[in-house]
Amino acid sequence: MKVVVSIKQTPSTTAVLVVDNGGKVSWDDPGGKPNVLNPWDEYTVEEGVRLKENHGATDVIALTVGSEESQDALKTCLAMGCTEAILVSDPALQGLDTLGTARALAAAINKAGDVQVAIFGRQAIDGDTGQTPVQVARKLGWTPLTFVSAIKEIGGGKITVERLLDDGKETVTTSLPVVISTVKEINEPRYPSLMGIRKANRAEIPVWSATDLGLADGAGSSHVDWSNVYSIPPRGGSVQMIEGDSVEAQAKILADKLFEEKVI
Ligand SMILES: Cc1cc2nc3c(=O)[nH]c(=O)nc-3n(C[C@H](O)[C@H](O)[C@H](O)COP(=O)(O)OP(=O)(O)OC[C@H]3O[C@@H](n4cnc5c(N)ncnc54)[C@H](O)[C@@H]3O)c2cc1C
Repeated sequence: MKVVVSIKQTPSTTAVLVVDNGGKVSWDDPGGKPNVLNPWDEYTVEEGVRLKENHGATDVIALTVGSEESQDALKTCLAMGCTEAILVSDPALQGLDTLGTARALAAAINKAGDVQVAIFGRQAIDGDTGQTPVQVARKLGWTPLTFVSAIKEIGGGKITVERLLDDGKETVTTSLPVVISTVKEINEPRYPSLMGIRKANRAEIPVWSATDLGLADGAGSSHVDWSNVYSIPPRGGSVQMIEGDSVEAQAKILADKLFEEKVI
């Protein structure tokens, strides 16, 4: 069984957004730490590696669409136990919106061939939309299983998972192939081993271009411009304490005021 873990490299969690005088936005990390594997994707990678360790997955391929620098995050995935890594990188694919990213990821998953499970994180800590996994599922035509908190069984062309809902959990069984998005309850990510880090540092990661994926048009989608980032102005308002001889009197005054203000 071939598994893809789809990951994103993001600014470190200590980085802050900086807007310069020209309105250009960048990330600045006060601690000077490099970009990291998106923290939500640590669970993604761990679950992929567990499918190899506990459910006989033969290949666990870490995949990202990003800049050359994203190789660092892919190396973290290799150090955690992924068997391969693929970087999709091309000037034509820079700054894609989530739909374009999903098209590129779906094309790469198809090119990897015979993938049965594609695992994603809940969201990326910079873009934060949480849209990518379901868009990839749509592009592939595979069943999306979102907010998965446990993979219970997998085999015989079927998968059973537990999904986390607002007010409980549900168990779902469906046919493979599937796209899964994970929540942090699914596992406890491991630290990369020393041997894994050494091996990962020597790894040559293949880079697939837009042309390799048949997306020389730039994945046919719009690009994201986030050059105007600003804080929401604080909400105005004041507090008025309502005095009265009894709770009933206070309630009447309050009701009259709400009526006057046309709130009720
Ligand atoms: C500050 C900021 C704001 C943005 N706002 C928007 C916006 O409003 N609309 C929009 O369409 N795009 C937006 N983008 C672009 C968007 O970040 C990228 O398209 C991105 O690759 C996917 O969206 P996301 O970051 O929201 O990821 P999410 O959908 O939140 O990520 C969910 C999961 O999908 C996988 N994933 C996400 N990105 C990649 C990737 N590049 N390669 C491999 N796997 C991946 C990971 O498993 C991740 O855990 C924004 C980017 C930034 C930096």
